[in-house]
Amino acid sequence: MADALLFHTEGATATYVEVILPLALPKPFTYRVPEALVQEAAFGKRVEVQFGKSKRYSALIIGLKSEAPAHDTKPIISVIDEAPIVTKAQIALWRWMADYYLCTLGEVMNAALPANLKLASETVVTLSPLFDRDFEGLNDQEYLIAEALTLQQELSIDDIRGILQRKSVYPLIRAMLDKRVIYLKEDLQEKYKPKTIGCVRLQEPYASQPNTLNEAFDKLSRSGRQTEALMAYLHLSKQLDFVRKQDVYDKAQVDSTVLRAMEKKGILEIYDREVSRLGGYEEETVNAQDLSAQQTTALEGIKQAFASEKPVLLHGVTGSGKTRVYTELMQEAIARGEQVLYLLPEIALTTQIISRLEKTFGGDIAIYHSRMSNNERVELWNSALNGRPVLLGARSSLFLPFQKLGLIIIDEEHDPSFKQYDPAPRYNARDTALYLGHLHGSRVLLGTATPSLESYQNAQKGKYALVQMRERFGGLKLPGISLVDLKQEQKERKLQSHFSSVLLSSLRQTLGRGEQAILFQNRRGHSPVYRCTTCGWHAECIHCDVSLTYHKFHNNLRCHYCGYQAALPPACPACGDKKLALQGFGTEKIEDELKVYLPEARIARMDLDTVKGKHAHARLINDFEEGRLDILVGTQMVTKGLDFEKVALVGVLSADQLLQYPDFRAGERAFQLMMQVAGRAGRKHRQGEVLIQGFNTSHPVLQEVLNGDYAGFFAREMMERQEFHYPPYLRLIRITLKHTKPERVNEAARLYEKWLKKALGQWVMGPALPTVARVRGYYLLDFMIKIPHGAKNLQKVKAIVREATDNLSLAQGLSSVRVNTDVDPY
Ligand code: ADP
Ligand code: ZN
Ligand code: ZN
Repeated sequence: MADALLFHTEGATATYVEVILPLALPKPFTYRVPEALVQEAAFGKRVEVQFGKSKRYSALIIGLKSEAPAHDTKPIISVIDEAPIVTKAQIALWRWMADYYLCTLGEVMNAALPANLKLASETVVTLSPLFDRDFEGLNDQEYLIAEALTLQQELSIDDIRGILQRKSVYPLIRAMLDKRVIYLKEDLQEKYKPKTIGCVRLQEPYASQPNTLNEAFDKLSRSGRQTEALMAYLHLSKQLDFVRKQDVYDKAQVDSTVLRAMEKKGILEIYDREVSRLGGYEEETVNAQDLSAQQTTALEGIKQAFASEKPVLLHGVTGSGKTRVYTELMQEAIARGEQVLYLLPEIALTTQIISRLEKTFGGDIAIYHSRMSNNERVELWNSALNGRPVLLGARSSLFLPFQKLGLIIIDEEHDPSFKQYDPAPRYNARDTALYLGHLHGSRVLLGTATPSLESYQNAQKGKYALVQMRERFGGLKLPGISLVDLKQEQKERKLQSHFSSVLLSSLRQTLGRGEQAILFQNRRGHSPVYRCTTCGWHAECIHCDVSLTYHKFHNNLRCHYCGYQAALPPACPACGDKKLALQGFGTEKIEDELKVYLPEARIARMDLDTVKGKHAHARLINDFEEGRLDILVGTQMVTKGLDFEKVALVGVLSADQLLQYPDFRAGERAFQLMMQVAGRAGRKHRQGEVLIQGFNTSHPVLQEVLNGDYAGFFAREMMERQEFHYPPYLRLIRITLKHTKPERVNEAARLYEKWLKKALGQWVMGPALPTVARVRGYYLLDFMIKIPHGAKNLQKVKAIVREATDNLSLAQGLSSVRVNTDVDPY
C-alpha cells in the first residue's frame, strides 16, 4: 500500500496542474503549466501562482492533467521545489480530513505545513543571525537580497520582487532559507534561541601543552576545592569529548563559584556549546529494563491483536508500566525498518516521558513541538521524509511526511487536548491517527488508564482489541482514595476556608515525613467572581459573556477567554455600594492560603500563569523532583504524565466544580481527571493517599473513583448517554454562527434553521445560546445536529450543512456572518 502512495514523477506530460492554495477555497484550483516549466512541475512540489488581482501564493500541486478545464486558466509563475515536499499518503489524509471535518483542503494544508513551506506575498524575511556575512557563496541575486537586508533589517517577499525586478522570486527565497542566509521574521522574535549546554575546558597554555599543568595545580594549591575540581575535570576529559559544568559539579562536589574562580585564575574556561537542535540530548542511551510478567503478557496480547490487523486499546492503571511496553513495540518496529509515530496530548506537560524515551532511543527519536523555530520544523519535516525512525509530538505531528509508518502509539488517548477547537480543521488527532494508520497499514495502539467512552465501546464491540494491565509495576499498591465531606466539616466548624481538617492534617503528616504533596484545583487565578453583595452585580468581560477572574499577583481582573484586563472597581458600578466580595477560588488563592496554614512548607503553583516562560514548566518539575519544593498546587497540568518518587499525598480541592461543569462529558472528564491525579500518588516506594473534598459526596462518579471502578463508571455513564441521546450512541455536529452585531447572527440563524430543519427535521437542535454567548466581541448562536449512526446519515448531513453554509454566504447582508463547523465537537 505505502509504496503506491509515495512520490511519483510523471510530471513530464502535464500541461495543467491542480493546486491547493493556502486559503479556505472549496475546491482545488487549476493552473496552466507553461512549456518551459513542464519538465519541472510534479506532484507534491510547490509552485508560485497569482490568485485574485495581485496576490502571490505558494500553492501545492496535488494533481496533473493534460486536458484543458472549461474555464480560463492562469499560468504558474515558477516551480519552487526541486523535489516534492509531500507524499501521496499525506494528500490522501488531507482529503479525508477536509471531507470528514467539513473544512477545505487549504485549511488542512495550513495546519499541516510548517510556516517555511508556506510563502505568501506578505511573508517578511530578515537576515539570519547565523549568517556571518560570507557573501561569497551567494549568486548575484542572492547577494542583492542579502545586501538589501543588511541595510534594511527586513523585507517582505513583495519588496524583494521589487528589488529584483522579476516576476518569480519564490525559488530564490526557498534557496536562501535552505542555506540559512535568511529567516522568516516571526521566527526570530521569539523562537530562535539555540539550545546550549554549559561546558568547561582548559585555557591556554594548559590546553595545548599538558606538561604545563603542574603550574596550574601550583596556582590552586591553596584551594582544596579548586584542586579537586581540576582533577575531576582532567579525569572526565579523558572519557568525554565535552565536559559539562554539571559533570564537574557532580564529580568534585563543587558549585559554580568554584569554576568561576578557576576561570579568573586563567585555568578553566566556561563556554556554551550548542547542541544539535534536532537530536536533542547527546546523552548515552540506556539499555531497556527487563519486562515484568504483566508487561510480557500485555505485549503478547498486543502482538496477537496486531496480527489480526486490529487497533489495540491498552487499558493499564497508572504506574502499570505502559511506557515500557510501548518502547518494546517501538524497538521491534525500528528493527523492521519502519517508522513510529508517538502521539502525546501536550508536549510541554510531558517532559518526563520524553526524556525517558530520549534515553531509550537517542538519536533515533525526533520531537515535533510548538515551540520549535520554523527552521527546526523544516529540518524535522525533512528528517521524517528521510526516514527518521521515531517521531514524537502533539497532535500536529500526524502531518509529518512519513515514509514507512509501521506503528502509531496514541498515549493518553482519552485526553481532550487531542482535539483542536480552533481554527479549522477542527479535528481529533486520535481519530485522525487511526485513519493515518489505515492509509499506511500501520499497527495502532491506544494507551490510557482511563479510556474514553468511545474507545472503550469500540473495544467492547470488537472493533479494537482490549489489553489490560491491572496492577502497578513492582507490586506497588494503588493509592487509597477517600472522600472528605465538606458539609460535615462545615457543620462541625472544622472547615478552614477551602481546607478540610482532614486535608490539613494529612498535609502536615506528609511534610513531617519529608514527603511531598500535590493539590489539584481546576481553575487558575485567585477568585473567579467579584460580586456586589448588595445588588448582585458581578464583574464581566466587556468582550465576552463571562465573569472576570481576580488575579492577586497582578491585583486586577482578567478574562480567561480573551485576556481583557480591568482594575477592581472600588464601589459597585450598579448600586454604588462598597460591599464587594471575591467569590469562589482558584489555584492562586489556594497557594496563598496554604502559606498561612503551613508557613514552613515550600509551596509552588503550576498553571498557565506560572509556566509562561519557555523553561518555566520544566524548572518547576525539576525543583519538585529534586525535593526543593514540598507542595505543588496546580490545574490539570499536574494530572499529566508526572511521575515523582516522593509524592505521598494528592488532594482534590473541589470535586463539585468538576462534576457541575455544563457539558454532557462532565462526568467522564471528572472521572478521568480524578483518576489521573490520584495516579500521581505513591508511584515508587509506598502506597499513596488521595483525599477528594466535596459538598455533594453522593455523586455516583465519586463512588466509582473511590473504588477505582472503571467498569461501573462505564456502564452507568453509557446508560445516561443512551437515555439522553449523546455520543457514542450517535454523532454530533455543532455549527456556530458568529457576528459582531447580534441582529445579524439572529437573522442568519433563522435562515439557517429553516434550511437545516427542512432537510433534517428533528435531528437539528437550536439555534441556542452557547454557555458563553459572546466571545471577543462576537455574538454566537449554536446549532447541534444529532445524527443516528450510519455512513449514509453522516454524508447526508454534511451535504446539507455545506449547502446551507454556501447559501448563507450568498444571502443578502449576511455574507459576513461566520460559520464554524465542528464534527465530533468534544
Ligand atoms: P504508566 O505509564 O502505565 O503509568 P510507567 O510506564 O510510568 O507507568 O511506569 C511506572 C513506573 O514503573 C516508572 O517509574 C517506570 O520507570 C517503572 N517501570 C515500568 N516498567 C519497568 C521495568 N520493566 N523495569 C523497571 N522499572 C519499570
Ligand atoms: Zn451593587
Ligand atoms: Zn473576554
